[in-house]
Amino acid sequence: MSFHAFAALAAKQPLVSYQYEPPPLRPQDVEIEISHSAICHSDLHLIDNDWSSSVYPLVPGHEIVGTVAAVGSECRLTPGQRVGVGWQRSACLQCEFCRAGEENLCPRQEATCVGHMGGFAQRIRLDGRFAFALPASLDSAAAAPLLCGGVTVRMDWITYLLTLKPNGILCLVGAPPGVMQILAGPLLTGQRVICGSDIGSPRMIRETLSFAAEHGIGAQVETAPLEEVNAAIQRVRANQVRYRMVLTR
Ligand SMILES: [Zn+2]
Ligand SMILES: [Zn+2]
Repeated sequence: MSFHAFAALAAKQPLVSYQYEPPPLRPQDVEIEISHSAICHSDLHLIDNDWSSSVYPLVPGHEIVGTVAAVGSECRLTPGQRVGVGWQRSACLQCEFCRAGEENLCPRQEATCVGHMGGFAQRIRLDGRFAFALPASLDSAAAAPLLCGGVTVRMDWITYLLTLKPNGILCLVGAPPGVMQILAGPLLTGQRVICGSDIGSPRMIRETLSFAAEHGIGAQVETAPLEEVNAAIQRVRANQVRYRMVLTR
């Protein structure tokens, strides 16, 4: 059975209808029937090959909500259960980072839509330990962007550095393409620090989802049918969406 998806066949191209044969369902794997897939700025960077890491055909999509359609023999999820998937689709689960609950730092981690077919699709297969049960009170469309929430920031770094008080820390959570140019002066004089933060670990994603459910928090979204993915991407590129676009099936 092949999966239907939308793929970029080359950098900066509109997506086209695309079928692929899914890899075999391994013991820990889950197959998800996708209902919602948010468009993240990272998807646009991947389509455009801004990070020089894209592999074509490329099916974007890493903020996914759907229901469990099939499970491998060792997967703890149940068919029919509603789950979400974020940027990460697997890790080794044996290294020092995985054992410490920081699977997002695993050197052998795999990304949902880099080198694998992502969520702008009818179905997806991945390691079930990276699919998260969604609390019943969370709306699927509003929950999808919570699974990654990577927001790309393009800014004047010097201005931001200078707003920090001495010993202040500038923590990067977006991944703008290209090189960051920083003056040494503001770093030295105030002993300011620049650091980075990766995607959340599975434990942090679970905490985020239950916190959002408990307090009725969700992303503010617009929705569009998956078939209109190219028009939806154009609206994201033009910064017209208030505030996240979620593709629905
Ligand atoms: Zn690991
Ligand atoms: Zn994202």
